[in-house]
Amino acid sequence: MGKLDGRVVIVTGAARGQGEQEARLFAAEGAKVVVADVLDDQGAALAEEIGALYVHLDVGREVDWQAAVAAARRAHGHVDGLVNNAGILRFNSLVDTPLDEFMQVVRVNQVGCFLGIKTVAPEMVDGGTIVNTASYTAVTGMAAVGTYSATKHAILGLTRVAALELAPRGIRVNAMCPGAIDTAMSNPSLLDPGADAEETSRALDGLYRKLVPLGRIGKPEEVARLALFLTSEDSSYITGQPFVIDGGWLAGVSVI
Ligand code: NAD
Repeated sequence: MGKLDGRVVIVTGAARGQGEQEARLFAAEGAKVVVADVLDDQGAALAEEIGALYVHLDVGREVDWQAAVAAARRAHGHVDGLVNNAGILRFNSLVDTPLDEFMQVVRVNQVGCFLGIKTVAPEMVDGGTIVNTASYTAVTGMAAVGTYSATKHAILGLTRVAALELAPRGIRVNAMCPGAIDTAMSNPSLLDPGADAEETSRALDGLYRKLVPLGRIGKPEEVARLALFLTSEDSSYITGQPFVIDGGWLAGVSVI
């Protein structure tokens, strides 16, 4: 018996990184996964490998959401899980951030999460789960990622309000707040065929050894296990909560 047997779960931004590991783990646990992304080749290849359905979904476009939900319904008859995982990051001080850049990040991270809740929750006729991917920067500040941090704070607000509004329909809504996780977002060398990704990962490990009490960067598979917990019956009495997964980074600072 898998923890998600019979469940139909849409995972956005699932072509790579944390979303990919969530899709793989959910499929292994018996879910019918809908892999959604804008990276069509990677997403379709993953879907084929794990026996999932691939849909092209730009999370900032409402028509894409409607098409994705219709495709899921056609394939499986219902939808009862969503992981809003897609996200982008831009580095800039607030005063140097062009409005276009600010709006681009808001469109993917914040509007994408809103549209996911708005479009998928009405499809959940027999209860369901929504897991929103926020961030460590949703619960504390971080210089140079102000736009990103603002959108991730907003995701916690959406999570709490959605949990209140959807609880009467048996839909639980929670958020994950990952610290530094070893994906292309925090380690862009993973996307550069010429770069020595292992060497960069080692350098990042050196950085996080200083910052993070557990002494290392997190793995996308570790976040996927939290997403599974929040999507499965194991979390049946939990809704409206942010879950920090950061190796202890947020616990405080060490002065020695
Ligand atoms: P990643 O860059 O590897 O993956 C992001 C995925 O989102 C990619 O597959 C990308 O194609 C997809 N995406 C981007 N824009 C999209 C759009 N408009 N529509 C649909 N898909 C889109 O990074 P990741 O670390 O796997 O990021 C997953 C989530 O975790 C993001 O929300 C990110 O903000 C969050 N997060 C990451 C870290 C980290 O350190 N990596 C830390 C905290 C939170």
